[in-house]
Amino acid sequence: ASPLKVCIVGSGNWGSAIARIIGSNVRSRQRFATAVKMWVLEEKVDGRKLTDIINTEHENVKYLPGYKLPENVAVPTLCNAVEGADLLVFVVPHQFTRKLCDEMVGRVSPRARGISLIKGIDVGPGGLKLISDIIREKMDIDVSVLMGANIANEVAAERFCETTIGSKILENGLLFKELLQTPNFRVTVVEDSDTVELCGALKNIVAVGAGFCDGLSCGDNTKAAVIRLGLTEMMAFARLSSSSSEDAGAFSPTTFLESCGVADLITTCYGGRNRRVAEAFAKTGKSIEELEREMLNGQKLQGPATSAEVYHILEQKGLLDKFPLFTAVYQICFKGKPVREIISCLQSHPAHL
Ligand code: NAD
Ligand code: 13P
Ligand code: CA
Repeated sequence: ASPLKVCIVGSGNWGSAIARIIGSNVRSRQRFATAVKMWVLEEKVDGRKLTDIINTEHENVKYLPGYKLPENVAVPTLCNAVEGADLLVFVVPHQFTRKLCDEMVGRVSPRARGISLIKGIDVGPGGLKLISDIIREKMDIDVSVLMGANIANEVAAERFCETTIGSKILENGLLFKELLQTPNFRVTVVEDSDTVELCGALKNIVAVGAGFCDGLSCGDNTKAAVIRLGLTEMMAFARLSSSSSEDAGAFSPTTFLESCGVADLITTCYGGRNRRVAEAFAKTGKSIEELEREMLNGQKLQGPATSAEVYHILEQKGLLDKFPLFTAVYQICFKGKPVREIISCLQSHPAHL
């Protein structure tokens, strides 16, 4: 068979870091075509087109400054990028998924498969909608997911870490492992893909709570409690979702022990953008939107938006009181609740009743 053509859909902080790995791996692995395409949303940086900068200087100077991209990673328009692609790596902020899929439909190879590195969820008329399901339905391809304790800048710096691939079709997960694993980026493949994806999305809400604690100078015991109670809410939410979906039974508690579970939760609660912006929110009283603009230079936060999506699902189901941490994060971010409610909500957490 001809070598598999890879397209990376997205080029933010994480997209650019993963492009370094992919661009380097395809050079030595026969199964993959050496030329990799990466889709970049066009914008001007210091008066120049970002796509031109990346194609000539091989660096995403805006979203991953200081790290070169391999020269076999090139940047065409979205339509050209996905034309004939066999392996699609989706890595955009979750709110843009639907629109991008609509633009790509019908252009990919008939043997195409995808993997989503996108942390987030969506709410459809039937409640929870996984981002991988949106892609699967719109593009009519199998979609694996990759989630783990993977702060992009540390991955770009090639510091050792682990990650988890979830695949409903194991063979596809193993293929993506071949594409993505390096000596410092170790991949475990599991079949409980929906739980892997939910872990990646929900930990961002907990990280916002952890950032509030930091902003309030609560100390390490309190932050550990937020992380643990957050984990119990993540597990309860995943259990709830698996029992209400058609392929019930997929949920396995041990998935939380993979990198996508506890490990990603910890790294995000200590080193992530959601934590950092939430800390500033507690200290300054500025809005999340304003802080995202001021602090992230175009990068996007997923935690506050995910808390809103989860809130709406829990509200529909009449279950808000079972998820006090998730609920408080939403109300603090968007409904003017005082930040200290992040602690008082935990004093009546169902875990201790
Ligand atoms: P990012 O936060 O750097 O966001 C910036 C990117 O969003 C840019 O490429 C920009 O062009 C793009 N963008 C802005 N507006 C857009 C629009 N209207 N349509 C399409 N794209 C638009 O992105 P990221 O860090 O690569 O994050 C992508 C996903 O990966 C998120 O779900 C995130 O949670 C997840 N993730 C991030 C990290 C990390 O450390 N950054 C690690 C693991 C997972
Ligand atoms: P933040 O978006 O909070 O930086 O988290 C990044 C991440 O998902 C690390 O795995
Ligand atoms: Ca090759």
